[in-house]
Amino acid sequence: MIPDFELYIHIPFCVRKCAYCDFLSAPASEDVRERYVQALCREIRESGESLRDGKMKERALHGVIRASGENEPSLAKRTVSTLFFGGGTPSILEVGQIERIMKACRETFLFAENAEISLEANPGTLTMDKLEGYRRAGINRLSLGLQSVHENELRLLGRIHSYEDFLESYRLARKAGFTNINVDLMSALPGQTWESYRECLEKVTALAPEHISAYSLIVEEGTLFYERYGDEEKRREAGKETLLLPSEEEEREMYENGVDFLRKAGYRRYEISNFAREGYACRHNCGYWTGVEYLGLGLGASSYMEGTRFSNVRDLKRYLEVDGAPALVRELPEVLSEEEKKEEFFFLGLRMMQGVSAAEFERRFGESWEREYGASMQKLIRMGYLKQEGDRLFLTEEGVSVSNEVFAELLL
Ligand code: SF4
Repeated sequence: MIPDFELYIHIPFCVRKCAYCDFLSAPASEDVRERYVQALCREIRESGESLRDGKMKERALHGVIRASGENEPSLAKRTVSTLFFGGGTPSILEVGQIERIMKACRETFLFAENAEISLEANPGTLTMDKLEGYRRAGINRLSLGLQSVHENELRLLGRIHSYEDFLESYRLARKAGFTNINVDLMSALPGQTWESYRECLEKVTALAPEHISAYSLIVEEGTLFYERYGDEEKRREAGKETLLLPSEEEEREMYENGVDFLRKAGYRRYEISNFAREGYACRHNCGYWTGVEYLGLGLGASSYMEGTRFSNVRDLKRYLEVDGAPALVRELPEVLSEEEKKEEFFFLGLRMMQGVSAAEFERRFGESWEREYGASMQKLIRMGYLKQEGDRLFLTEEGVSVSNEVFAELLL
């Protein structure tokens, strides 16, 4: 069977930078956005040419990546199972621009008939015209960045929208015919309590979106939040304002209560931070966690094709200068060793509640996982962090709470 692959398209523009955000995104003028769309369309089409003539690696990656083996299926025959417009704020683009990107994709790649095509959108950037245009262009899943229903938290996060804006966007999206909507929420915010987080969950589940992503805030270096709150000890010493983040215990309580709340509301947790009604798990992300190959297009997008990882340049000026030419925007080719592929298999696969399969490991690596990982697996099973049932190994409830420590123990 010829394996499918996924497409990721990065739109690196936002109305303004949120205080906690370390994604590759920034405000840009209309002119820059248009030049970017033109360069992106070129990258899409020329990447497709490389796929068609089987010279993607040689042409696009300066010959650094190994050539296709004779038995590898031609990439030109592989279908795209999912496409994900991420950002940044893809919905900042005009409908015509999204249509042109979709046209370039459809004319370049072979799409599965039931391909999942998602677009990240922020309240405050959506109109009925845009939403109807996205539907016409083939977008069939919308991911709305809400984060909180409380105005003080939205302001603190530096979001551009109010809760009312979100409600309006949600209503318009349903009216435009979107039947697969995700809503993003955040927990562990400064000053947040389980009670205030529960209110977010109550209000959002009352709307019955198909999917909810609920991540905890991480204060990343280089963000406004880090400047304000990072390195608590130094700030305290300097007599500056310190962070009122919930303690680890409170954060865990929010997470565990949240899982319970969402389960009762009909949302199955299928990944540590992702919850869906039956049949609505995000296929794009599931593919990523289970090792499906993906081609990333656009500024800073990373790819994993034929056992090789590579990324595009992160400098917008450079991306525009070379007009998206694949051979000039790709960098960091890295052929993963068998060891690294195995680690990735566990690291990504165990994020999903279904865990990883021993038979799948054997199929991919030609050996059992016993020899290399057996001892640490048994230790983690005894500690109650992992569980094995038949062919599958997965995190227990306790294991989810300390997943990073579990991964470290298993993979070291
Ligand atoms: S909208 Fe998203 S990508 Fe843009 S600045 Fe805010 S968090 Fe970052």
